Amino acid sequence: LADRLQNTIQKIRGKGKVSESDVKEMMREVRLALLEADVNFKVVKDFIKKVSERAVGQEVMKSLTPGQQVIKVVKEELTNLMGGEQSQIAVSKRPPTIIMMVGLQGAGKTTTTGKLANLLRKKYNRNPLLVAADIYRPAAIKQLETLGKQLNMPVFSLGDQVSPIEIAKQAIEKAKEDHNDYVLIDTAGRLHIDGELMQELKEIKELSNPDEIFLVVDSMTGQDAVNVADSFNEQLGITGVVLTKLDGDTRGGAALSIRAVTEKPIKFVGMGEKLDALEAFHPERMASRILGMGDMLSLIEKAQANVDEEKAKELEQKLRTMNFTFDDFLDQLGQVRKMGPLDELLKMMPGANKIKGMGNLQIDEKQISHVEAIIQSMTKQEKINPEIMNASRKKRIAKGSGTSVQEVNRLLKQFEDMKKMMKQMTGMQKGKRKGFKFP
Ligand code: GDP
Ligand code: MG
Repeated sequence: LADRLQNTIQKIRGKGKVSESDVKEMMREVRLALLEADVNFKVVKDFIKKVSERAVGQEVMKSLTPGQQVIKVVKEELTNLMGGEQSQIAVSKRPPTIIMMVGLQGAGKTTTTGKLANLLRKKYNRNPLLVAADIYRPAAIKQLETLGKQLNMPVFSLGDQVSPIEIAKQAIEKAKEDHNDYVLIDTAGRLHIDGELMQELKEIKELSNPDEIFLVVDSMTGQDAVNVADSFNEQLGITGVVLTKLDGDTRGGAALSIRAVTEKPIKFVGMGEKLDALEAFHPERMASRILGMGDMLSLIEKAQANVDEEKAKELEQKLRTMNFTFDDFLDQLGQVRKMGPLDELLKMMPGANKIKGMGNLQIDEKQISHVEAIIQSMTKQEKINPEIMNASRKKRIAKGSGTSVQEVNRLLKQFEDMKKMMKQMTGMQKGKRKGFKFP
């Protein structure tokens, strides 16, 4: 999805004048991109209609940068499509807050129950009780108990001979006694939606009167996920969706359609199998990511969490203006190291996914001290102007840093790649010397 859209955006971004036929052409591309990404047909139709109306309207045609303006409209409408503002998780006035996790087998209910408990404790300082109410799938209870142990959190179960309705009832009593402020009920799934399952879920719902019913769906199933969401919502009523396995989803079709079809928000996304791989869903950021503008906000947040604010601002500034020398490289190496693997950071940068040979940019953490030594052995001129580097300079640097000429060469190559990449990022915005600007 991202690739196709990016090409189209590249074409229109720098345009000083946009005609109606430009917009039409762009909309045709956007439409194809969405359909290819397995976005619901009706959703695509409505979306294109909305964007087209706005794009040929006053706000765009009269603007000084219509190309940018069209992109802004697409981004805003993508954001609206996914629910606009980010939605919050319910808190009951009379604790415990009860959350029912529902969905088909293998969607990720049990895993997500564990992740959500972890998030509730970490981010909101809550104290949840996990409830094993899937008595059908072999080892389902054990699976939740194992997660509970890993998290060091209580798991309520009565084995697989007691009905899920009874389990839910007793679990809530227990939570009140033990002052657990959240109760997360992990229910059974089926391979397909059937009447028996729905009946059971309805009874649990009636009895426990949940504050949230989260439908867990596998994003990789695309349109199917949307259909599943639609029927669960119709038959049971849900309050939100958790979209799992987004780490493996390259198309993003489910993320884009679910909200429009069900009118229920995506609350969280699963980004991996680990217990900390659950993130709040940010429609705006998802839209940026889809448009290939990179998730600048996440990047900067990540920087701020790990690096002091001044440095983060500086880093951002450097990225924007592309005034980047070996001295900055050295300085940021240390900062960047605190933020995690470099290649992961690069993934979040605008346009970085388009650069070939990204692999070359991976820096072995163990080599960092060598890199630092090499840079420190350079003269001021060499740092600012690495083009002057010749064989004898390289030899001198290698000797001075206790490394080899090969290592010096490798670093020079890495630095050049990085600069190239930044140039490409700035090149995305023709006619603006100031570099990348986040809309
Ligand atoms: P349930 O049947 O709905 O309870 O599904 P499970 O919680 O047992 O999950 C099924 C499989 O999906 C497990 O192997 C999980 O590790 C995996 N899984 C769940 N969420 C994610 C996710 O966000 N990303 C990835 N990569 N795997 C996930
Ligand atoms: Mg399960």
